[in-house]
Amino acid sequence: MQPLDQPVNKKTETMQDWLAPYAALDKLSLGRQYEEDTPAYRGEFQRDRDRVIHATAFRRLEYKTQVFVNHEGDLFRTRLTHSIEVAQIARTIARAMHLNEDLSEAIALAHDLGHTPFGHAGQDELNHCMKEYGGFEHNLQSLRVVDLLEEKYASFPGINLTYEAREGILKHCSLHNAKQLGEIGQRFLEKTMPGLEAQLTNIADEIAYNNHDVDDGLRSGLITIPQLLDVPLFKEQYEEVKQKYPDITERRTINETVRRIINIQVVDLITTSTNNINNVNPENIFAVRSCQKPLLSFSDEMKGKNLQLKKFLRQNLYKHYRVMRMSAKSTRVIRKLFHAFMETPRLLPEDFYQKVIISKSEHGETGQARTIADYIAGMTDRYAIAEYDKMFDVKNLT
Ligand code: MG
Repeated sequence: MQPLDQPVNKKTETMQDWLAPYAALDKLSLGRQYEEDTPAYRGEFQRDRDRVIHATAFRRLEYKTQVFVNHEGDLFRTRLTHSIEVAQIARTIARAMHLNEDLSEAIALAHDLGHTPFGHAGQDELNHCMKEYGGFEHNLQSLRVVDLLEEKYASFPGINLTYEAREGILKHCSLHNAKQLGEIGQRFLEKTMPGLEAQLTNIADEIAYNNHDVDDGLRSGLITIPQLLDVPLFKEQYEEVKQKYPDITERRTINETVRRIINIQVVDLITTSTNNINNVNPENIFAVRSCQKPLLSFSDEMKGKNLQLKKFLRQNLYKHYRVMRMSAKSTRVIRKLFHAFMETPRLLPEDFYQKVIISKSEHGETGQARTIADYIAGMTDRYAIAEYDKMFDVKNLT
């Protein structure tokens, strides 16, 4: 555990004074799993953020699918650009509400580290393959990456983030898994809340993906403006832009519309959440955690509009036949790789083969399956495709 009341340096001390009493404060942090010295020039959450940026899993996000598979086009979001957009939105909200910007950024950049290749199709299939071995959840996998899988430090596994960052990364968790996790899983069993930075990053994620999926969806031609005019949140902003700037190109009109939607959502979130916080007046982060529902939320009106947009995207983009066709292909890649490695672990690269031997001797077939899931989850889209070709294409002699 860190010394709780030791000021780090003048700069971070001033920062701590600026933060709201209910923000995540260095001095109230529940600390790291492995004890470390206090950083000399940074706060604890700055250090968390920096560790995420240097993680191997963070670099791999560049080649992982958000909705469109990486090779489908250079302009679509990847998990990396998505995470950076989430961080931008989270930082704005944190600063406006005197919450901890460094922690919000750390959570935002780390929140998707556990994602498999090929987006949700990949994770659903890996979960299916792992059914008899405890399943696969991407939030839990993100925590596994920062707690165990990164190999950066001589004296401990993972990157040893603070409790507050880990609490934010574990956005959802099944009750079964929560029971195995100890302290960090407790809130799912007690139905209490994480700190405000975790809550805000969760919503920043939603704001980011709904809006960039509109943008990417239009860019790909899978959805169109006439279709989107059925969605009030889009229609209101689009028509205002059209009226004010009738002569600009369609691309600029779309960009200006999306920009405005993000802005009104962020403003709505800050206004509503500030009111919620003023009503409850939590003394500190522990009081925030003991609440039964989140203090960070949209107004009821914005919640309704957001739901309409999500429903539209689900029906028209995520279930578009071209997205589904790619998902079906990805599912086959994941399934075949998993079963081939389970059947013949010798097909794994040497380091993972060694890990399988250890995990199998400790936890039997379940241990073997978990290590193979770690290997597959860590793959980028293009690595998974290349690996699949090497294993199943007889003409591929590499
Ligand atoms: Mg996300």
